[in-house]
Amino acid sequence: MGAESIPAAARMLNVVPTAFATLTELRPDQLRDAPVRWPRPSAWEQALAWEPATVAEAAAQLGLRTVGDLLAHLPRDTGEGRTIAELQPDEVATVVVEVRSVTSRPVRRRGMKPLVEATVADETGVMVATFFNQPWLQRAYPSGTRLMLAGKYQARNRFRVNAHARTEAPTGAADTAGVAQYPATKGISSTQILAMAQLHRPAVADAIEPLPAAIRVAEALPDAVTAFAAAHFGDREAGRRRLAFDELLLDQIVQLRLREERQGADRAPPLDGPHPLTERWRAELLPFALTGDQERAIDELDADLAHARPMQRLLMGEVGSGKTVVALHAMLRAVEHGHQAALMAPTEVLAEQHFATLSALLPGLGDAGLLGASAPAQGALLTGSVTPARRRELLARLASGELDLLVGTHALIEEPVRFASLGVVVVDEQHRFGVRQRAALDAKAPADRVPHVLHMTATPIPRTLRLASFGALDVTTLKQLPRGRQPIVTHVADSERERARAYERIREELRAGRQAFVVCPLVSDSEAVQARAATAEFERLRTGELADFDVALLHGQMHPRDKAAAMERFAGHAADVLVATTVVEVGIDVPNATVMLVEDAERYGLSQLHQLRGRIGRGGHASVCLLFGPKGSRRLRALAENTDGFVLAELDLELRGEGELTGTRQSGLARFRFARLPDDAAVLARAHARATALLAADPGLELPEHALLGDALARVEARTLTA
Ligand code: ADP
Ligand code: MG
Repeated sequence: MGAESIPAAARMLNVVPTAFATLTELRPDQLRDAPVRWPRPSAWEQALAWEPATVAEAAAQLGLRTVGDLLAHLPRDTGEGRTIAELQPDEVATVVVEVRSVTSRPVRRRGMKPLVEATVADETGVMVATFFNQPWLQRAYPSGTRLMLAGKYQARNRFRVNAHARTEAPTGAADTAGVAQYPATKGISSTQILAMAQLHRPAVADAIEPLPAAIRVAEALPDAVTAFAAAHFGDREAGRRRLAFDELLLDQIVQLRLREERQGADRAPPLDGPHPLTERWRAELLPFALTGDQERAIDELDADLAHARPMQRLLMGEVGSGKTVVALHAMLRAVEHGHQAALMAPTEVLAEQHFATLSALLPGLGDAGLLGASAPAQGALLTGSVTPARRRELLARLASGELDLLVGTHALIEEPVRFASLGVVVVDEQHRFGVRQRAALDAKAPADRVPHVLHMTATPIPRTLRLASFGALDVTTLKQLPRGRQPIVTHVADSERERARAYERIREELRAGRQAFVVCPLVSDSEAVQARAATAEFERLRTGELADFDVALLHGQMHPRDKAAAMERFAGHAADVLVATTVVEVGIDVPNATVMLVEDAERYGLSQLHQLRGRIGRGGHASVCLLFGPKGSRRLRALAENTDGFVLAELDLELRGEGELTGTRQSGLARFRFARLPDDAAVLARAHARATALLAADPGLELPEHALLGDALARVEARTLTA
């Protein structure tokens, strides 16, 4: 915008520009000279000039194409910035220097390209920077080039360079806030990203402020420009938090609106008729009586289903709390109204397990051929391993409405699966189920209809975080475990004497005809290393402490066939002991198992240990869980003292300093750019409250002060729908 237009703009806004803190009107020439900067949001769309092409490619991989991409790419950490004089031997740090001279010489090691050595200097000293395997740098970095170098200072005044970039920053300028460390990838270093960010630092002033001033003031948040500047170049955490607030606010608005939209539409089939099938099922076919929690949950579901407003409910309950029964009731409600139901699981294995559970709860479900029309409901499993012929047959029966109930993975919502009349959908582990899937799901129902949706999760997510992963779903919780569940006593053990006693305890249980799990230490993130450790422990136990018993091994690297065989042997009691990695966390149901020993338990997250422990205490016998780890660990103590998964999830959040909250990635909490959950739980709660109030006051974001927030929202919505 030209300087002449300033008075015009001022006239338009009907304000008279005056000198700072006075009523003295400014003349046009004073206005022209005033240090006013008009933000140019278009500056963020400018493409970044990465060089050479390989770096540009790597940058594209990180999504760093424009200035805006770059400024939204926040540093994750802080490294040391030094002047040459400050460098200590063996120190890893970043310096800004100027090249004085540069040479290269061959290296004797085979396969190594010539070594480039540059004499570099800042105001405080001179040193020799060495670059391995990049002979072209001799030409690229001639004398006089200013460089940012990250690397290790070695003896004899040499600096071994790990990452380097041209820079326009002044030499010797050790950043007082430390050197920003950016998430990088192969082909592009944090140093290169930092140099680029510094180059585009002025564009920070072009940041759009999406937050209405009233919210910003009430929340005591810095403005957007300050936040971006701080996030990169200053108080990084304070800057990031402000941006996290925006991000979470927008996300909450999206979720709240989606909910409104779905609910406002009144397009689901009201399931309010009589209960012939469900009543017969509960009276004659279900092999047990429902718990009070299950009854309550079913009542809540029935009330939801009776409306044309689609159900959007989350059923939360630990593994074994009996969610599937409740879900089946909802599905049968659809069937008894002449509609169909589908259950979707995140993996094929889980889909198979669900189908097995459903078949046990509803005898005759999968036996269309045998029972024909007399089956209470006709159901089928559709996975990738179904033969093409069977698949065609199932799809035809589904489209004709002959098939009542379908179980599968999320692939169910892809074309070409067509339902005659989809009334209820159950989604297991909804956290892997995004907005896009939800839209695809709605498209499965006949035109202008949407199905009722029940989400199920076994991950007890603290209330504060639930807002992010489950948006604004109604929540039903199953806390009461089905009758017959036995208490589990948990001990923390760390001495050799206790270890000996633990094995003796295991042998006692085994001699009494029970079975045991031994969970191996979490030695590394690498599956292969993990598998080796499990194999070693397996060998040690079956030739040592547990030599008198049949011991089986289970880890993630085994062939699926061998895995299935090991699980079968253990489930069928051909094996007494299962030595396993955390693969046992999911879906093993062996009621006869009464002991679990967990090695190096403090390495596991609290929630994960709780999930593991849930594998025992499932039968008619009291169970014991032995956690090997430091007695002083608050996490292990919390486990010994609590059995309620929801209490533990809250404690997990509190004790996070001691370890990672497990399930964070799966629960969709890691999908944010700026927000870090669960750390930002408090920010999330505030954002949720603001979003709710904002939508109540101005549902369409039509007020002028909400215009820029509306723009930001449109961008977010476009992104989530194409993601
Ligand atoms: P979840 O899906 O919550 O992990 P399931 O629904 O699979 O739990 O139930 C776990 C086990 O408990 C199943 O074998 C199921 O048959 C059994 N079960 C569920 N509800 C009851 C109940 N009310 N009484 C006895 N057993 C039950
Ligand atoms: Mg289940």
